[in-house]
Amino acid sequence: MGQFGTEFCDHFAIARFENNTWSSASIEPLRPLSMHPASHVFHYSSTCFEGFKAYRWGDGKARIYRLPEHVSRMQKSAASLHLPIPDAELLASMVKDLVAAQIEDIPAPPSSLYLRPTLIGTLENIGAAAAPSSEATLFVLASPVGDYFAGGSATLKLLVEDQRARSTEQLGSTKTGGNYAAALGPTLAAKEQYGVDQVLFCPNGDVQETGAANFLVIGDDEIITKPLDTTFLHGMTRDSILKLAADNGYTVSERNFTVDELLELVKTHEAALSGTAACLSPVGSLVYHGKEIKIRDGGPGPNTEKLRKALQDIQYGLAPDTYGWLTEVG
Ligand SMILES: *Cc1c(COP(=O)(O)O)cnc(C)c1O
Repeated sequence: MGQFGTEFCDHFAIARFENNTWSSASIEPLRPLSMHPASHVFHYSSTCFEGFKAYRWGDGKARIYRLPEHVSRMQKSAASLHLPIPDAELLASMVKDLVAAQIEDIPAPPSSLYLRPTLIGTLENIGAAAAPSSEATLFVLASPVGDYFAGGSATLKLLVEDQRARSTEQLGSTKTGGNYAAALGPTLAAKEQYGVDQVLFCPNGDVQETGAANFLVIGDDEIITKPLDTTFLHGMTRDSILKLAADNGYTVSERNFTVDELLELVKTHEAALSGTAACLSPVGSLVYHGKEIKIRDGGPGPNTEKLRKALQDIQYGLAPDTYGWLTEVG
């Protein structure tokens, strides 16, 4: 398997929204899309996406992780961009049909099939900066992906950015292209200047998240992360880890905290990033005002490892799915 996101299954799912209705979806051989250069998405970023995984267990069947919740997050993203909202049943069946069609291509855990539903505005109008796209294309890509931790579980180094925001208050919880464009410049600059992996965006000191992952502080008996608001993306991995942490006896504190508090907390606590691609990744150090602050010994912490394993065991079929997070296909 190539680098994450560079290899694709030979089919994709696609549906169109025109004349106020969704067409029925079809599974087709993967092909380039043909679009008018005036398509709304090219000019006004009318686009949103989802990302989640399906696992193929020893019984040969696939299990899609938290499908209904990802579908509903996609609907919220579409609504916030005033794009046509895909019907939940339409999108869920596109994903399930695609997984069924490609089931033989899903590698065994810890590898998986990454699924990428994408919605784009296709209205042909370059004078529509302040008007929504009334036409859209919805497609789902499938991409076999390997184990993120195959090279051993290295820790991440983050730059603590206490001025700039990753996104805006109105689109922070929308999975839309423009947010990644906004985070790209600061992230590249931080990589070059400090050799960090990611930027932890903490506008005015409010610890939010990195460019594409949520941020959690984890102690021996508590887990701390920002409460849900519109400034950051509501990760499903974050939600799952918090539930499993509570089950494992941790106190779950969803509360706002500042950079100053964070620097105090990491004297005794671990830190981690959560997201679909890497599940729960340990953070080994923070760079703040030019100074590097090691977290513990800089290596992965036991609480982070324990919670990551608790989630992966469910995804891989090694622990019971008590929350009903998995949708079976095949
Ligand atoms: C997708 C994403 C996450 C993680 O969400 P998961 O549902 O856990 O994969 C976190 N932050 C941002 C900005 C994201 O785009």
